[in-house]
Amino acid sequence: MGVPSVFLRTFGCNFKCEGFGMPRGQVSHEATDIAATHTMIKAFEKYEDLPLVSTGCDSYASWHPDFKELSPMLTTDAIVDRIMEIIPYNEWKDEHLVITGGEPLLGWQRAYPDLLDHPKMAGLTEITFETNGTQKLTPEFKEYLKTWQTRTWHNGGPIREITFSVSAKLPCSGEKWEDAICPEIVREYEQVGTAYLKFVIATEDDFDDAVTATVEFRKAGFRGHVYLMPVGGVESVYALNNRTVADLAMKHGLRYSDRLQVPLFKNEWGT
Ligand code: SF4
Repeated sequence: MGVPSVFLRTFGCNFKCEGFGMPRGQVSHEATDIAATHTMIKAFEKYEDLPLVSTGCDSYASWHPDFKELSPMLTTDAIVDRIMEIIPYNEWKDEHLVITGGEPLLGWQRAYPDLLDHPKMAGLTEITFETNGTQKLTPEFKEYLKTWQTRTWHNGGPIREITFSVSAKLPCSGEKWEDAICPEIVREYEQVGTAYLKFVIATEDDFDDAVTATVEFRKAGFRGHVYLMPVGGVESVYALNNRTVADLAMKHGLRYSDRLQVPLFKNEWGT
């Protein structure tokens, strides 16, 4: 939190997370209702026009197939130019590149070397993948990441870091445990960077699930930190349980992650 970061959001996800914000066992229809309206009357011209939702996945615009046409398909040069426009003085200093989604470790793994090897990206020193922790790294991408990390270092340049921010989905997401909790895959991320787990907590059941999942990850040899993050894309929801989640984290020796973007930017696209 607080680190100047550029977020690159890729399209597509292997999950839907329709259970968020719903009573257990029920699914949100907000995104599907919006999609139905869009299919009927082409109601939206760009993804920023899509309504924000309070249940289900709040990033539905980044994976729902009915909205794919609203996301621009950009060349590597165009993406790099946009990134360079965003960072102050058009030059990498302390900025991190956060690659998010959807799920950024789907087929996009094939595209990242081209992006990261672009001459204008040479000054980048830290990448974070915001992933749901279900996608294996391809052998080619894994090797690539190892060389990306050590390349400048061997030439006397800054040390580069790779972080996997793994938001493993608990049953409150509506996804199945066996699909969502993948300790062996996350263990592999630790071979090329730092990985941590981040569980979104709304109820005591979620906390119990987070503990059970953590035990599974630890049994598989996962060494990283574990964060609890209160649910809440809007301040009214967030304020209801942030203190409770912080207390749980302190009581059980886990880390607490705030949601700095909620008070700063509210619930808006692009945050
Ligand atoms: S994994 Fe993330 S992006 Fe994918 S549906 Fe769930 S919350 Fe949304």
